[in-house]
Amino acid sequence: MEGGGGRGRRGKLMGHPNRAAVFACLFACFFSLTACAPGITGRQGFAMDTVVSLTAYGKDAAAAMDAALAELAALEARLSVTRGDSEVAKINENAGELVSVSPQLQSILETSLTVSRQSGGAFDISVYPLVKAWGFTTETYRVPEAEEIAELLPAVDYTKIRLEGQSAGVAAGMAIDLGAVAKGYAGDALAEVYAAHGVRSGIINLGGNVRAVGEKPGGQPWRIAIQDPYKDAGNACILEVRDANVITSGAYQRYFERDGVRYHHIIDPGSGRPSDSGLASVTIVAAGGAGAMADATATALFVMGLDDGLAYWRNYGGFEAVLITEDGAMVVTPGIADQIRDVAAGFRYSVADGK
Ligand code: FAD
Ligand code: MG
Repeated sequence: MEGGGGRGRRGKLMGHPNRAAVFACLFACFFSLTACAPGITGRQGFAMDTVVSLTAYGKDAAAAMDAALAELAALEARLSVTRGDSEVAKINENAGELVSVSPQLQSILETSLTVSRQSGGAFDISVYPLVKAWGFTTETYRVPEAEEIAELLPAVDYTKIRLEGQSAGVAAGMAIDLGAVAKGYAGDALAEVYAAHGVRSGIINLGGNVRAVGEKPGGQPWRIAIQDPYKDAGNACILEVRDANVITSGAYQRYFERDGVRYHHIIDPGSGRPSDSGLASVTIVAAGGAGAMADATATALFVMGLDDGLAYWRNYGGFEAVLITEDGAMVVTPGIADQIRDVAAGFRYSVADGK
């Protein structure tokens, strides 16, 4: 399939200020998802600093969605770095010691450490001191001096995160944040809540992290829109999936501007600065149950760039990907190619060489 004329796109992404962007994207996605689904039951909410939209079918759909929202609130209370009483805050406050952690946090830490090892540290939840220095998560945006970045970088080291059974901890001076992995975990956790209520068909959309449960009631696949990173509203393409996680990391999702320069929220743990790998967005498609891995992998590949990202996929597999570069290429892995629809004009579309 060819996507279009391939005009150069590098340079200024046509973005949108943070929250407004998320709302715009979500409403676009929501309508795209529901356009062919009359009689749908839905819930909207706000959690993990993002807009949440749930849909579900089945006799107990309403109860399933209420229970799912409650589960999401409980997960946020447990996993948020900004909540003083969360498990993550407990780890950070007790840096240098081990503290006991829940099975959920244990599972997220295991996945995080695996993706950190596999990506050579491109994914690293201990990048939090840098995330904080740039003002992300606290929303006090600033551009740190080179000296400050150099002073903070030694604290970024996933090899010093300890996970021993039900205990975990970081070395003194370190701190972690699960912003790049916990929404993926939550999507699967909410899908389990759906299953417990007998819901076999629905959508869990956590700020663009989509968990498609089963298929549409009529037996058709779900159609998930991937946002065009260059437009305020508009799709780069549509993905048709059944029972899958579709999780995107992009430079357009959270950022601020200073003196005409845009600084986004995905930090390269090597430089301590917003990553500049030439990718505008990475979407990972993975099976139900692999949401945390998919979320972490989207962030990892975004930092690694197109070539290293594809090498990662060839080495480790277990997921498919849609990678959009800053100069207008859309590269998809072969396992997902026959599920891509409606590639927007202007993208140079290609399928990556297989393993
Ligand atoms: P992703 O690419 O999945 O993640 C990017 C986020 O991960 C960054 O924002 C940063 O936090 C972290 N990160 C950056 N670079 C790396 C890297 N190389 N490796 C690993 N991690 C990296 N936001 C707020 O502003 N206030 C809140 O109170 C708040 N609470 C949250 C609570 C929870 C439980 C979660 C999951 C998120 C929360 N967030 C909050 C949002 C969070 O800070 C991120 O902005 C958001 O999760 C980004 O998701 P994403 O899919 O856009 O990008
Ligand atoms: Mg992520």
